[in-house]
Amino acid sequence: MIRLNDHYFKLQASYLFADIGRRVAAYQAEHPQRDIIKLGIGDVTRALPDACVKAFHRAVDEMAADASFRGYGPEQGYAFLRERIAAEDFQARGADISADEIFVSDGAKCDTGNFLDILSADNRVGMPDPVYPVYVDTNVMAGHTGEFVDGRYQGLVYLEGGEANAFVPPPPEEALDLIYLCYPNNPTGAVIAREQLTRWVEYALAHKALILYDAAYAAFIRDERLPRSIYEIKEARKVAVEFRSFSKTAGFTGTRCAYTVVPRDCVAWTAAGEKKPLHALWTRRHTTKFNGVSYPVQRAAEAVYSTEGREQTRSLVSYYLENAGIIRAALGEMGFACIGGENSPYIWVDCGGDAWAFFDRLLERSGVVCTPGDGFGRCGRGHVRISAFNDRENVQTAMARMREAGF
Ligand code: PLP
Repeated sequence: MIRLNDHYFKLQASYLFADIGRRVAAYQAEHPQRDIIKLGIGDVTRALPDACVKAFHRAVDEMAADASFRGYGPEQGYAFLRERIAAEDFQARGADISADEIFVSDGAKCDTGNFLDILSADNRVGMPDPVYPVYVDTNVMAGHTGEFVDGRYQGLVYLEGGEANAFVPPPPEEALDLIYLCYPNNPTGAVIAREQLTRWVEYALAHKALILYDAAYAAFIRDERLPRSIYEIKEARKVAVEFRSFSKTAGFTGTRCAYTVVPRDCVAWTAAGEKKPLHALWTRRHTTKFNGVSYPVQRAAEAVYSTEGREQTRSLVSYYLENAGIIRAALGEMGFACIGGENSPYIWVDCGGDAWAFFDRLLERSGVVCTPGDGFGRCGRGHVRISAFNDRENVQTAMARMREAGF
């Protein structure tokens, strides 16, 4: 008899986006003339940088001629891209990462989930709350949790974020084996200071733990005092794997290119207590289960590091950061306490009560959509996430409508 992975039945249906969609559709049906501004979405809205588009086209033309055609490529990514990544995203910032420690992939989302393939189911997992839900759900699917009781999965250790710690939870007293950190954070927009990240690295070293560091929004960091990579912290190479993505850096959400860094001296232990490098296992997993990112997409990603590409991606990210600044300033004037929106595309707003009630009020009075924080964990209650991924005009109109509506 064929059996299912029963762990899937522990998963909670994702009511969040379905509920948002239902409420927006009902409002639209009642107000067919009203144009609704969606500030709830975490997807980019602007076109690929010109340098990437040109490189993409050139690579497609190469595929059209026998002499330059490419078949299967290296699963870990072409050297031309891995070398640029290592040199520009890490070595140029004093982080000791080499090209053979970079694994090019089709998404940071997939990689954060896939990485669990090479880790034991017995690890004590530290899960931030609020959190990017993929980390939780992939642990549930892999059978790393118990049942869902009172809004939380048994077996996970929740690292609670709140106003008291500015949504940057510190290391706990108890020992954890696997820790998820995401900065700049989705959903809160919080960033982590060098000293705070150093404490996490020291904690991981002391407990022989592993940090999965999601830096998908690293390109939004403009404050030079903030670390863009965990490898800017001493000895982090021994205890951290980092996930990066071209999705938000260069508008690649529909093009698909990302990478994972697994340093050679990052280790974990077998059941028998033997120390093993993660690099070898991840190489095995990645080359067996993944075919590599297509050649034209890797050429488009490489163009991010060209002189023009660098300028264009910087200006793309600046555009969203300016949107975030407009939103944050406007909400501040309206009297809301917010975090994020600086060095981050997300603004996390204390809505002073039930987030769904605020969502309904905002939609009803202003025709603006936000994301209720409840969808990101228990600690997200009483907050909403507003995204800066939108056109400038929409952002300005949304803020003007909120002011007019007396928010
Ligand atoms: N990590 C975080 C924190 C995200 O918010 C997202 C997308 O919203 C991703 C990863 C996904 O990145 P990718 O598009 O590379 O899969």
